[in-house]
Amino acid sequence: MFETLLLNFLFLLFPVLIVVIFFENKANRYNNKILVAMSAVTMLLCIAKPIQLDMGFIFDLRYVPFILVALFGGYKNVFPLYVLLNVYRFYVGGAGFLPSFLFSTAVVLAVPFFSKRFIRLRANRRIVWATAAAVLTMGIYLVVLGLMKGTLDSQFWLLTLYALTTHVMVMSILMILIEQIITNIKNRDRILHSERLNVVSELAASVSHEIRNPLTVTSGFLQLLKKSNNISPQEKDYVELSLQELNRAEKIVSDFLSFAKPQFGNMVHSNLRAEAEYTKNIIMPFAAIHKVEVQFTFSNTLNTSYDKNQIQQCLINLYKNGIEAMKEKGGGTLTIDISEKKQHILISIGDTGIGMTKDEITRLGKPYYSTKKEGTGLGMLMVYSAVNKVKGVIDVKSEKGKGTTFLIKIPV
Ligand code: ADP
Ligand code: MG
Repeated sequence: MFETLLLNFLFLLFPVLIVVIFFENKANRYNNKILVAMSAVTMLLCIAKPIQLDMGFIFDLRYVPFILVALFGGYKNVFPLYVLLNVYRFYVGGAGFLPSFLFSTAVVLAVPFFSKRFIRLRANRRIVWATAAAVLTMGIYLVVLGLMKGTLDSQFWLLTLYALTTHVMVMSILMILIEQIITNIKNRDRILHSERLNVVSELAASVSHEIRNPLTVTSGFLQLLKKSNNISPQEKDYVELSLQELNRAEKIVSDFLSFAKPQFGNMVHSNLRAEAEYTKNIIMPFAAIHKVEVQFTFSNTLNTSYDKNQIQQCLINLYKNGIEAMKEKGGGTLTIDISEKKQHILISIGDTGIGMTKDEITRLGKPYYSTKKEGTGLGMLMVYSAVNKVKGVIDVKSEKGKGTTFLIKIPV
């Protein structure tokens, strides 16, 4: 019996192993299907090789992969497993088909119902709840079995004991492994992302610092030259134009420098109202040109410390992207809402533009990623960097063709 148990455990470990070895680096939607397929195979193997107790009872671990897929994947993903389970059970034959069918139907109706809430839980809680779900499923199954049998002898209690302990053990070990994989993937992504931001902001800081000095010197000499009496009016015009262009270059460099590190003089402790209204007014003409209506609501009372310039730049970049996304659709609505919730400032910026696919969302914030002809691909990088500095998080909801909403949560 112990050997069969180990064999079953091996079946269950197999998908976990495959994911770690082959798919950890590539998160995309095909992985889901592969995971479901592997769980299905595992489930069938579990049914095919049930655990034989010495006293003649059998039980198997089919509900472990079933519950895992139901909890993580919801109705959509568990449905193929449900069909497969019953088709296979029917094929195996025997008297147990109908009870098994009814029972799996009950499980498939009940468990995925909690999927959305389950996914939002913290890792530790998820381990506990998944284990509880496995025990509960097995428990109810045993109760039904007991009721059908009528007499509850010591053998039945022994079966109960074996079945429940194996389910608790197997489920909790699997969940610990799964959660560790999830944490590892998340950590690695976070490290990669902040590494990227660091490289870019350091580069920007050094480059812009080096360029600023020659710019200042050149513009100083040009100003002197402008005052000279020995040059013709036309030459004066040339000098004037050069000065204007130099000014522009200096501005771009300043933007980069402010992007690179928070400047002491710019730090304020406030509720974002001034920045939000200022940037909204700046963007209004740009919105009007592209027939975009701007809806602005502000209801935040919480104060936090931030770099004024960076936050302004960040908001402008988001507004600009929103408006540019609606440009191709010939107009739309830009919704800006700044509110508070549970010690967090919430900034929501929504547009009714072209939207993005899941793939495009994951690319956001990578340097030089742009789908626009004259895009720089630095706007979103700046946004992520600025939000990172105030310890905020960005959540992107987008639907291709419908629009995009950026939700920024800043802790106070
Ligand atoms: P740029 O605007 O110069 O292209 P960004 O870093 O600001 O660079 O944006 C990168 C890309 O992200 C854009 O080219 C666009 O494809 C996508 N993007 C950003 N915001 C939105 C939005 N609100 N709607 C649709 N796509 C967007
Ligand atoms: Mg942009």
